[in-house]
Amino acid sequence: MKATAPYRIAIVGAGPAGFYAAGHLLANTAVPVTVDLFDRLPTPFGLVRSGVAPDHHKIKSVTRIYEKTARREGFRFVGHVDVGTDIGTSDLAAHYHAVMITTGAQTDRRLGIPGEDLPGVHPATDFVAWYNGHPHYTQCSFDLTAEKAVVIGMGNVAVDVARILLRCCDELGTTDIADHALDALKQSHVKQVTLVGRRGPVQAAFTNPELKELLHLKDVHIAIDAEQLVLDAFSEAARVAADDRELEARLAMLREAAQREPAPGVDRVLTLQFFRSPTALLAGADGRVEAVRTDVTRLADGSEGRLRAVSTGETETLPAGIVLKSVGYKGIAVEGLPFDDRHGIIPNEGGRVHTENGDTLPGWYAAGWIKRGPTGVIGTNKADAQESAQNLLDDLSAGIHLEPPHHADALLGRLAHRTDLAGWHRIDAHETSQGEASGRPRVKVAELNDLLSLARGDRPAA
Ligand code: NAP
Repeated sequence: MKATAPYRIAIVGAGPAGFYAAGHLLANTAVPVTVDLFDRLPTPFGLVRSGVAPDHHKIKSVTRIYEKTARREGFRFVGHVDVGTDIGTSDLAAHYHAVMITTGAQTDRRLGIPGEDLPGVHPATDFVAWYNGHPHYTQCSFDLTAEKAVVIGMGNVAVDVARILLRCCDELGTTDIADHALDALKQSHVKQVTLVGRRGPVQAAFTNPELKELLHLKDVHIAIDAEQLVLDAFSEAARVAADDRELEARLAMLREAAQREPAPGVDRVLTLQFFRSPTALLAGADGRVEAVRTDVTRLADGSEGRLRAVSTGETETLPAGIVLKSVGYKGIAVEGLPFDDRHGIIPNEGGRVHTENGDTLPGWYAAGWIKRGPTGVIGTNKADAQESAQNLLDDLSAGIHLEPPHHADALLGRLAHRTDLAGWHRIDAHETSQGEASGRPRVKVAELNDLLSLARGDRPAA
């Protein structure tokens, strides 16, 4: 059946993938469309607001591109509406010609070892959401009274949380870090942070700019065992085969840092500990975590050409008053849609959602981390989302879409608690004006009720 133009598209999740997809859809001139971009929060931008570290302000300027998309005709932001709780995917199917899911990877991967849920052990993703003022994480508390912290994992999130734990609060005080986190970090006793990687320096998942910044933190001594940087046969073969300047630069940075002597008077230490695989988190007499037990590892051939860490038989115990597990994010299923639990993604082909047996689900699309898994940087989502959006447009041109019996306005009319773009602009104006007054990019409002009051204009922007 031929639908009357414009086609109505719902996108679920107002992070980078959602905005890049909306931008591509609304910029196209072949098929007239409107886009309603849903988010469970009254604030847009997903991980740019609640994932990117506060001391990485430049990265956040990407929101200027998203604001441009938001100004396009046919765009609406539908904030504070949780798809799965407030409305279901069946509601979307009844009101839109196509739906794209861009909900990212909303939970953390688990280690699956004893002691993982001890008090004092937290997913790094919770710590990140907390210091970034995500309203669902304001009630989290992190005990920073011990001197020693362990961060499990060697990716960019591990680097972010280690840096925030060790960075001096005068520096953090000029950022948009949540006030509750800044206050807690000012009281922090954490002085020694150990990053634990189960494989070697060649396999670590962090990238060079992030490593460089970490190795040059003000007043922090870097401790690396130079012997761990001597490449074994596997890593040496991987290095030669990669012929990669980035990898050579990484190894040079690590080797230089390993040679450094502690500077006099510097009592904060960051240790990079390679070849250690956590096997248990151990409790002290008070029931809180007090140590991480690890296997010492070496590399061995794994499946699909991936080198894996195997135990040498030796073990080691690292004292820790707080442990942040930073072993990756994981997507969660969207009610009513197929889900590949092993990879934490919605099964898809170029963003076209398909069922477990491979049949395409017409009218349903995915983009971003829920499409490909939690990899890449913010910009990686651009091409990813454009691919999904273009496939959606091609399908509309070919007459492939949902057959919604109702107009989207009927659905939005039912959602009296929703917030809109004007509401976000009121929040934004309030936060940035508070920031101007204190020499910060913005002072984030973290409590949901305060965000809602601002969004509705109940509270005048300062
Ligand atoms: P990630 O890059 O996938 O790193 C996960 C780390 O956890 C790896 O070192 C991995 O080691 C380790 N790990 C996984 N399972 C483990 C286990 N069972 N035991 C011990 N270690 C384990 O994940 P991420 O750090 O969460 O980052 C997610 C994405 O966001 C990445 O693409 C990242 O680059 C991006 N990001 C970028 C920035 C930035 O650009 N500044 C900041 C933050 C995040 P193995 O390699 O051995 O599996």
